[in-house]
Amino acid sequence: MLNQTLAEQLHSALQTTSKITFLVGAGISADSGIPTFRGKEGYWTIGSKNYHPQEMATNRMFQINAEEVWKWYLYRKGVVENANPNPSHFLLKELEELLHSQFALVTQNVDGLHKRVGSSPDKLFSIHGDLNYVRCGDTCTNELYPFPDGFDWKNRNQSTITETELKLLTCPKCGELLRPHVLWFDEYYNEHYYKFDSAMKIAGESRILFILGTSGVTNLPMLIAEDVLYNKGFVVEVYTDESHFTHLLTNRSNGLIIREKSSVFLDGLVNHLRNHHSLPRRNSHN
Ligand SMILES: [Zn+2]
Repeated sequence: MLNQTLAEQLHSALQTTSKITFLVGAGISADSGIPTFRGKEGYWTIGSKNYHPQEMATNRMFQINAEEVWKWYLYRKGVVENANPNPSHFLLKELEELLHSQFALVTQNVDGLHKRVGSSPDKLFSIHGDLNYVRCGDTCTNELYPFPDGFDWKNRNQSTITETELKLLTCPKCGELLRPHVLWFDEYYNEHYYKFDSAMKIAGESRILFILGTSGVTNLPMLIAEDVLYNKGFVVEVYTDESHFTHLLTNRSNGLIIREKSSVFLDGLVNHLRNHHSLPRRNSHN
């Protein structure tokens, strides 16, 4: 059974053209066996020194030791390549089909698993980038390139990078090393790479915002949640533990906290929409 307040909010939102937005984070990909890489899985050893993810995922480190940063990302990319989408990815895709133009998906995940289940690129905002793309590490152009072919992900030795692989990771325009298309800790959001303005616009148009599988330690998700609340939208946190959003939503009439696994909640939401709402635009296909 869906929470009564939420059911009412959904009912009235579906009478409008406002957005029903899903903001998701690492918790969604955890069921696919992809760690957050912020914890111990993200630690990286160079020589005798251990580096934190917050040191590795920086432009500063890329300037000092681009090869080592690439070794780390090739390890991470290998994990993603060997992973499969999980029920949450499929349920979000189903929600996109049910909610049509009202649906928006803002993801912090860089693994590209939403696209693998067919989430539409025009409704998907990858605010932290996408490991399926690379770009010039020297910014000779701001063009994105698909991640080069030719890596053997199945048998990759995670601590090395071959000469052939380095060649594949060379900018075709200027010959400098390419870089992963992801937002690093010492960089800023922008529209061109990370759809910052678009994500904020979506926030402004959202009647309901669902926050799933993210604890809210980064800036943009928090800004989006605050913006939706400010505009009298309804914000629902779905997370198994307390998070930065919990404080924001506690004792608020337009906030709701649900302590459930994302996949369980999304399954309930899909069932509710199927059973309680004849979604007219869908019926036209019958
Ligand atoms: Zn270049």
